[in-house]
Amino acid sequence: MNRIYLDNAATTPMSSEVLNEMMPYFTSAYGNSSSLHGFGREARAALDVARDRIAKGIGCDADEIYFTSGATESNNWAIYGIAYANRNKGSHIITSKIEHPSILKICQKLENEGFRVTYLDVDRQGFVRIDQLLHYIDADTILISIMAANNEVGTIQNLQAIANIAKEKGIIFHTDATQAIGAINLNVHEMGIDSLSMSAHKINGPKGIGALYVRKNVPIVPFVLGGEQESNMRAGTVNVPGIVGFGKAVEIATRDIITNSKKMRQLRDYFINEVQKNIDMVYLNGHPIQRLPNNVSLSFAMVEGESILMLLDSVGIAVSTGSACSSGALEHSHVLRAMQLPLDLAQGTVRFSLGKSTTKADLDYTVAELVKIVAKLRQMSPISRAQVGKMTGGDPKCTVKK
Ligand code: PMP
Repeated sequence: MNRIYLDNAATTPMSSEVLNEMMPYFTSAYGNSSSLHGFGREARAALDVARDRIAKGIGCDADEIYFTSGATESNNWAIYGIAYANRNKGSHIITSKIEHPSILKICQKLENEGFRVTYLDVDRQGFVRIDQLLHYIDADTILISIMAANNEVGTIQNLQAIANIAKEKGIIFHTDATQAIGAINLNVHEMGIDSLSMSAHKINGPKGIGALYVRKNVPIVPFVLGGEQESNMRAGTVNVPGIVGFGKAVEIATRDIITNSKKMRQLRDYFINEVQKNIDMVYLNGHPIQRLPNNVSLSFAMVEGESILMLLDSVGIAVSTGSACSSGALEHSHVLRAMQLPLDLAQGTVRFSLGKSTTKADLDYTVAELVKIVAKLRQMSPISRAQVGKMTGGDPKCTVKK
């Protein structure tokens, strides 16, 4: 069966260039980078190269990059570490309602520990409300954390405007750029970003490795304790092959950013067009232009996203839903809820995320299958019209896509 992978926002296949670069660090150059002997020096040299590549990719200095196990840890650490290191200055944090759970959960934990957190609303297209940001900043605000681009609906935030506000008010600005690296140009020094999370597996690198950039003068306390690695800031034997792969993945992603995003944008818009031309009552979530080049989040009226996912899977096409929730069928994603998407549409939401190797033929096949699947589902079990337009208050325990 033809297998088509349209879930690149969840994870990407590793590129062979990356794998080739990593291989020696599993087999022959396997030293511990903390060791003083030749094996250790060899590993350390590889770390230096990777750190340089990543720093170059986001426009910072190499000693501002700390390796972590991925963006979840980077986000947890940034919020926790910056909050506690700056507690003498204040205890108020501002973030948004559409952040990844690795931001939201650590914020909730800090609320239990005496910090105050404001969760900003977004508009219908998923843009953080700048007027609210300005409104909620006070003398106690120490940290603003807003994601660069949303993993579910693809909206790219007005990051520069937010960074400018933070800078003007003297507040530390963190951004979760996990989905944005390789898709939009980010230069943290130029933009005035103080802290940034990233992850290798979203850019054709290995899983389980990421980084946190922290600007030199930004106070942050460590999160993982028990060793002197990463300048005493992140303990644990360093994942040398992973870091080598990560460095290569960032180098490739930033090298190819213009050609890749142009190609993906064209395919993305072609796909959106074709779906809307061939299926009625399908709505695009997020902003039509200021969105990730590979993200297509569509809501199909009167069908369940999960049914579409299953039937697409049965013909070899992998996608994600935008409404998966552990706590009951009537809840939906916190992102779609924050965007005030009606419940029936949230339940009919599917995320298609294109990758480097996606072709027009893949998308044509997907559209053809979608047409049949949506027609069949609408015929079989249309969601009760009484539900159309209803919203639930929802709870924040909904499971959220990777
Ligand atoms: N933030 C965002 C926006 C993400 O999409 C993800 C990955 N799903 C993460 C953070 C967590 O990244 P990781 O898988 O590297 O822990």
